[in-house]
Amino acid sequence: MDKTESFFRDTWAEVNLDAIRENVMNIKAGLPGKTAFMAVVKANGYGHGAFDIATDALQAGAEFLGVSMLDEAISLRRSGISAPILVMGLIRPRDITVAAKWDVAVTAFQEEWLAEAEAYLEKGGSRISCHVKLDSGMGRLGLRTPAEAKSFAKKIKGSANFTADGLYTHMATADELDTAYFDEQVKRADELVGAFEEAYGSEVGWKHCSNSATALRFSLEKYNLVRVGISMYGLAPSPEIKPVINQELKEAFSLHSKITHVKKVAAGEGISYGATYQTEEEEWIATVPIGYADGWIRKNQHGDVLVNGKRAPIVGRICMDQMMIRLEGPVDIGTTVTLIGENGGAFLPMDEVAARLETINYEIPCTITPRVPRCIIRDGKVAVVHNSVF
Ligand SMILES: *Cc1c(COP(=O)(O)O)cnc(C)c1O
Repeated sequence: MDKTESFFRDTWAEVNLDAIRENVMNIKAGLPGKTAFMAVVKANGYGHGAFDIATDALQAGAEFLGVSMLDEAISLRRSGISAPILVMGLIRPRDITVAAKWDVAVTAFQEEWLAEAEAYLEKGGSRISCHVKLDSGMGRLGLRTPAEAKSFAKKIKGSANFTADGLYTHMATADELDTAYFDEQVKRADELVGAFEEAYGSEVGWKHCSNSATALRFSLEKYNLVRVGISMYGLAPSPEIKPVINQELKEAFSLHSKITHVKKVAAGEGISYGATYQTEEEEWIATVPIGYADGWIRKNQHGDVLVNGKRAPIVGRICMDQMMIRLEGPVDIGTTVTLIGENGGAFLPMDEVAARLETINYEIPCTITPRVPRCIIRDGKVAVVHNSVF
């Protein structure tokens, strides 16, 4: 497919599914024997495109998909995905029939929630697969004490509809070098798992506590499933642990545009709103059609982009739909500008943009808005383009 037929602006993101498949296979290869892999594709696959990521992750060996909301799970089902899906956030009790209809596993941990959800179901009618959440120190969702875990286990055991197919927790500091808090969480998780299973009367099939950082750094014997998001997309969970993870990760997301205007500007001229940037000498200034409405927020204004394999600084304020860059000399209209990724043998990593914006790499592709078309690359070619504008 020619990507130019699918959108009519020269700004686009590329999502490289070949990188996704490589990352899934490499991460899987580094896991202990029978560990299963949940590809986390919440938030439209961290902004990459949930359906395409899910498809290729499953093809590369992922067994589960993880999302945060029921709506995201339904979207995958409607696209034809039949693999097991876990909703990791809490759904509303009344939506349990919807989860049943679409065969989606839910997260459970509140007794009142269980009773309320059960009231919407025909007794023994539908079997609801649930993964019970344990709060070992994240402080977000889950059962916090062994007594709570035991009590909930008995409630699930007595349920006509719910089955505990999984037990899981989430780590708060796995991306930090200091492992004291992490170690404490593992200890608590082990206790909570033990308490739950004792009261439940049998082992629970899936036990999981690893996000990317945990999966890449630690092997936790009792646990047989990992939930991998960020590193499947080719990114390190934090700059701090980047040097200690010996796993090659290939960034899947890149962001590009094309120059729409180039001009030589005299010294002492103002550029963009507020004229905050003043040319110091005669300068070559180019206009690039991307702005904060694309998620390319104003705070990027002192950063670099790549043009013909060379760095060029963003000058002046970033506008809603456009911005200006300074070049060493004239280039052709239509020359590609790379804001994230590879250009002419040079590479501008996602982590550089995250550092510039004083945030984590996770936030960057998530906040590039749907106005930016996503060109999905498979086997080195554009397989499909998602353009949400029309
Ligand atoms: C998002 C999420 C993950 C994935 O985390 P990464 O750091 O992206 O690997 C795993 N588990 C839960 C519960 C999550 O919400």
